[in-house]
Amino acid sequence: MAATLNLEQIVDQTLGEAEYKLFINGEWQAANNGKTFAVDNPATGDILRYVPDAGADETRAAIDAAAAALPIWAAMPAITRSDLMRKVAALMLERRERLATIMTLEQGKPISEARGEIAYAASFLTWFAGEAERVYGEMIPASVPNKRLWLLRQPVGVAVMITPWNFPTAMLTRKLGPALAAGCTCVCKPAEQTPLSALELGKLFIEAGFPPGVVNIVTTSNPIPFSDTVFADERVRKISFTGSTEVGQMLIAKSAATVKRMSMELGGNAPFIVFDDADLGAAVKGAVASKFRNAGQTCVCANRIFVQRGVYDQFAEAFTAEVGKMKVGNGLAPDVSVGPLIDQPARVKVERHISDATAHGAAVALGGQAIAQMGNFWQPTVLTGASALMLVAREETFGPVAPLIPFDSEDEVIATANDTQYGLAAYYYTRDFSRVIRVAERLEYGIIGANDGLPSTAQAPFGGFKHSGLGREGGSVGIHEYLEVKYVSLGI
Ligand code: NAP
Repeated sequence: MAATLNLEQIVDQTLGEAEYKLFINGEWQAANNGKTFAVDNPATGDILRYVPDAGADETRAAIDAAAAALPIWAAMPAITRSDLMRKVAALMLERRERLATIMTLEQGKPISEARGEIAYAASFLTWFAGEAERVYGEMIPASVPNKRLWLLRQPVGVAVMITPWNFPTAMLTRKLGPALAAGCTCVCKPAEQTPLSALELGKLFIEAGFPPGVVNIVTTSNPIPFSDTVFADERVRKISFTGSTEVGQMLIAKSAATVKRMSMELGGNAPFIVFDDADLGAAVKGAVASKFRNAGQTCVCANRIFVQRGVYDQFAEAFTAEVGKMKVGNGLAPDVSVGPLIDQPARVKVERHISDATAHGAAVALGGQAIAQMGNFWQPTVLTGASALMLVAREETFGPVAPLIPFDSEDEVIATANDTQYGLAAYYYTRDFSRVIRVAERLEYGIIGANDGLPSTAQAPFGGFKHSGLGREGGSVGIHEYLEVKYVSLGI
């Protein structure tokens, strides 16, 4: 375990007297009825702060503000919008240490990962600030001489963003970046476990000089009145959701009544395939990074590690040795590489997956237990002799558990890897050039890491096939999720 930290002092120094309120129309306000809910530190169970518990009225006020700001923001020259977005990104980097500390306090991830997330999150604002200046129209050749066919792209309108707790800042800016660049105004609802990071970001929008109402942030412990209000409101034209497939499916169904544009970044069940011709050192490094980042609580993390039989024992030994070096503890300690799980249900799921695997013949090569006396902490776990039929390989574990599953042939592993309702990220390691191409083409996934365990970046599209989602965030395609295409036939 890591050295003892003076947590009280860190909390006091970082959060100080900060009071967290709803960010609506450029101002901070309490919930109308004064209700609040507690934000906990998952590493200790301590309450960090209370935030307003908004309902339908506050949600409507945020939509009112976004709708009023829309014509102003949409009409602003793209270069002015870009400058403002770049200012927020610069402020995020300037305040990186404070923002990262708050993220670790409320989410639990190691501080080095939180610092990395702040930089990653800022990169979406910077990159899309550039894209704002490249929203081009087109002239299409007509088939008659007295016509010109004009295509223009315009902001879709008020956009609502609903985000999860596992990347409290990056999931917001991955949506805000393209939305603001397109000229949309926004209402954000962060996850109830991690609202502080979102509200801290709100402060930077004010400091950068954003017009009131362009970005609004509503915190709530009950997402239903929020979502009922935004789905019923005709002024909301776009919903961008990141979270579980189950909630995503409910929201898609809800969107029918007012025919909203929907972007969905949902769950995953990523295969990580190690072929017998792989650079095993690189594969071990990639697998550890992909599996254990954020204690395994990422939508793209390796959920099923398939290893070809010829190198299975060698890989298992090297991988287990590497995982064995990981230090579990409070993410604020500099030497910690695995923080706590977010809450008790997350821990119960990890426990259920491990006991199902061992009941069906898997062996625990490392870990396998909660850490006694330490709430939500779980030992980094390696399971050998796992199979694709076990729960741990069929469901998203969202925890630090790596099942190693042997396979024999390329055809077999691709069929097994694709045999899931999910299709977000997949990884494979091989030194055979033809196989690199072949496997990339055959995997039914939106994001593929070929000899790369960490493929996400602002310039590239992020999103999934099948039940993993609709649409893409990031990359040059990301902004199109927030643009309407208008065609004008010009008779001349
Ligand atoms: P979740 O339970 O689906 O919650 C995500 C967000 O949706 C939270 O803000 C939550 O609010 C809100 N929400 C829940 N029920 C809602 C409803 N009925 N109406 C409107 N909003 C509702 O997911 P999570 O547990 O926070 O996150 C983990 C999941 O997210 C995993 O499945 C992971 O794979 C997925 N994820 C996907 C990506 C991606 O890019 N594809 C990235 C990160 C995470 P409350 O917090 O108030 O419940």
